[in-house]
Amino acid sequence: MIEELRKKAEELLKNDTVKVVFGYGEGSVPERTRPVFITKPEDVNKLTWNKYCVYNLTTYLKRQETRKLGKPALILKGCDARTIIVLLKECQIKREDVYIIGVTCDGVGDPLAEKCKACDVHTPLIYDDLVGEKRENKEVPFEERYAELDEYEKLGEKEKWEFWQKQFEKCIKCYACSNICPLCFCDRCIVEKNQPQWIDPSAHARGNLSWNVTRAYHLAGRCINCEECQRVCPVDIPLNLLNKKLAKEAERSFNYRPGYNIDDELAMSTYKEDDEQEFFK
Ligand code: SF4
Ligand code: SF4
Ligand code: SF4
Repeated sequence: MIEELRKKAEELLKNDTVKVVFGYGEGSVPERTRPVFITKPEDVNKLTWNKYCVYNLTTYLKRQETRKLGKPALILKGCDARTIIVLLKECQIKREDVYIIGVTCDGVGDPLAEKCKACDVHTPLIYDDLVGEKRENKEVPFEERYAELDEYEKLGEKEKWEFWQKQFEKCIKCYACSNICPLCFCDRCIVEKNQPQWIDPSAHARGNLSWNVTRAYHLAGRCINCEECQRVCPVDIPLNLLNKKLAKEAERSFNYRPGYNIDDELAMSTYKEDDEQEFFK
């Protein structure tokens, strides 16, 4: 598979289909990889592929440094490729401006990432070329997909509140979560606005709560559950729980899962008269 990836990258760079390939390179230790940006055909042997290829490389589509390199080809797992569908729906990219090298995938991480336990996109849903043997994407039942929430949902309202207060107290406002997130792409984040100042930028309990809750709401019905924000959080806040809870509610209310179907209407920007109105209390 590595050779196939390198061959494809070399071909795309040589025939000038793309100017750069976003992929995975070997890390400083065997249990890590790192993002690499290949601009010359002679460098394609820097590309690798293994179970440590956890990063969602679509996040580099929003960075000025990588945008300057020209049209990219991205090596994308099925979960990461869902981001492309959301970015297309939100008019953040044009389809002709990105080339997708989809890779079939059995799972990443050691131990296996939580998202992989209920994966239904082993073969990406969108790609220009596919590397690896095509797999059947089997639908995973709703309850199974959100099994991670089972224990959390057993808590009462007060316990949930205490749980999140305790978690958010740990936040140091490093913003690694929003930096890594491919769908946090505002030029100026709400946390940077000071007239009016919506969110206190210092790391204290009240400001932390508004930061984390606001970010979660901004991702509601959009988050594709790549789990990158939780992976990079230096103080281990269980952001997956928060994101998944909102994803579950968005799916239950609007029968919508982001990044699955380019023809679906966006849950948060489409009004339907028969939408549930139960948030009006
Ligand atoms: S969620 Fe699916 S596509 Fe994504 S890393 Fe896990 S197994 Fe691979
Ligand atoms: S899992 Fe986190 S990083 Fe990934 S899309 Fe959702 S909020 Fe963004
Ligand atoms: S990565 Fe974690 S500590 Fe940093 S701002 Fe996000 S939630 Fe807070």
